Amino acid sequence: MKTADIAQRYLDYFEKNDHTIVPSASLVSDDPSILFTIAGMVPFIPYLTGVVPAPYPRAADVQKCIRTNDIEEVGKTARHGTFFQMMGNWSFGDYFKEGAISYAWELLTSAESDGGLGFAERDLWVTVYEDDDEAVALWQKVAGLPASRIQRLGREDNYWTTGQPGPAGPCSEIYFDRGPKYGRDGGPVADDNRFTEIWNLVFMQYAINNVRSKVDFDVVGELPKKNIDTGMGLERVAFIKQGVENMYEIDQVRPVLDRAVELSGRKYGAVHEDDVRFRVIADHVRSSLMLLSDGVTPSNEGRGYILRRLMRRSVRSMRLLGVEGATFPELFTASRDAMKDAYPIVSDDWSRIAPYAYAEEETFLRTLASGSTILDLAVSQTKDAGGSAITGSEAFLLHDTYGFPVDLTLEVAEEAGLTVDRAAFDALMQEQRQRAKDDAKSRRRAIADHTVYRDFRALGETVFTGYTDLQTPSTIL
Ligand code: ATP
Ligand code: MG
Ligand code: MG
Ligand code: MG
Repeated sequence: MKTADIAQRYLDYFEKNDHTIVPSASLVSDDPSILFTIAGMVPFIPYLTGVVPAPYPRAADVQKCIRTNDIEEVGKTARHGTFFQMMGNWSFGDYFKEGAISYAWELLTSAESDGGLGFAERDLWVTVYEDDDEAVALWQKVAGLPASRIQRLGREDNYWTTGQPGPAGPCSEIYFDRGPKYGRDGGPVADDNRFTEIWNLVFMQYAINNVRSKVDFDVVGELPKKNIDTGMGLERVAFIKQGVENMYEIDQVRPVLDRAVELSGRKYGAVHEDDVRFRVIADHVRSSLMLLSDGVTPSNEGRGYILRRLMRRSVRSMRLLGVEGATFPELFTASRDAMKDAYPIVSDDWSRIAPYAYAEEETFLRTLASGSTILDLAVSQTKDAGGSAITGSEAFLLHDTYGFPVDLTLEVAEEAGLTVDRAAFDALMQEQRQRAKDDAKSRRRAIADHTVYRDFRALGETVFTGYTDLQTPSTIL
């Protein structure tokens, strides 16, 4: 079953059950406080919170998502992509818990020949919120699931809130058991390799208040209109149905991985570290392609900076696989061809998208070429002198003079068994920022006619802090 076929089955099933099919929203949310669409729910927030009346009682979609906070998992687990597609069905005050459970179970377990996904019942487990006896009873009634395959978990795992006072509620998640080859028995636990979470059903039924943390709040009443919000990972279903090991080997991703393997002249499945890199490349190239197609362009801040780091991390991974030259023309083309049936825009807009990708790679390769020699020298000198850390001033010089991001210095140092004196580096960065501020002040004092500069000043002093201030894992690059 092709990935696109699974998505179509999902939509067909819910359309048949009176859901309005809604196209995916952009990866770039309308809400400036949200960097990217991280879940199917994002475009429906106004309806779910009741701020805007829903234009339909039921909806279903396949939503493009970006989750940068999963970046460290990519290539290491079987199931985390920075880009993925979340299939969802929604009820706005219409059907509730029983409906959501029945639909999910029927779609998962109906035969493929009947339009279902053909999962064997014995491979499925569910989790419910610990107090949600109603959900336990429904799973037994609707699915005939034995109590031993229904696990009760606490708020940390199975309670949805927005982090604000307002609607909230318990969830129930469906897991697929990949079998004893993948680890211990006993059912789902967080971060499991054997039991793979595939579908999250959220039952929005309570109002909460006094939110002290994700798990500490007061349930103050039932919602007058209860909602259903579900999310099923398309790539996860695809890798299970396609009988491959992980989501980087599905039809929409594997061609990029294969291309990277060919370019490197190495083998996939031979060395674990290499395999992780191949999977990272396949993931990041696809995510970058999808971000570019939604209008994000590489830059030093915000969304563009995430895109830049995804692309640079791919380049860097190719280098670690022994490839020095440009690879994006091959890798992005492979990704485009794998994604264009589902998202024609990636080929329709190719003449706009490709130049950004290729230029970004060229620039970064030049940066790497100029900085690498200096860094290699610093590494060998440090080692020869019996030291264990690259000094802050070396890291700063690389950053300041060669545009070599500190994350990269950290990564290279780590590979060589060294650390970086990060505190000293940060102090030098801080000094530089202060100098830039002082300079700006003295320039302003020297200017007689201030009015000319008023507009400029209104923008504030711009000091480039992209490489250090971004709130993402420091090892992302
Ligand atoms: P996990 O615990 O495996 O990280 P999650 O609990 O963070 O998943 P949810 O937020 O519940 O995931 O999202 C709903 C569904 O979207 C998941 O059940 C899964 O199928 C899918 N999903 C979530 N994150 C990813 C990802 N990074 N890559 C691919 N699919 C994902
Ligand atoms: Mg997660
Ligand atoms: Mg989970
Ligand atoms: Mg979940």
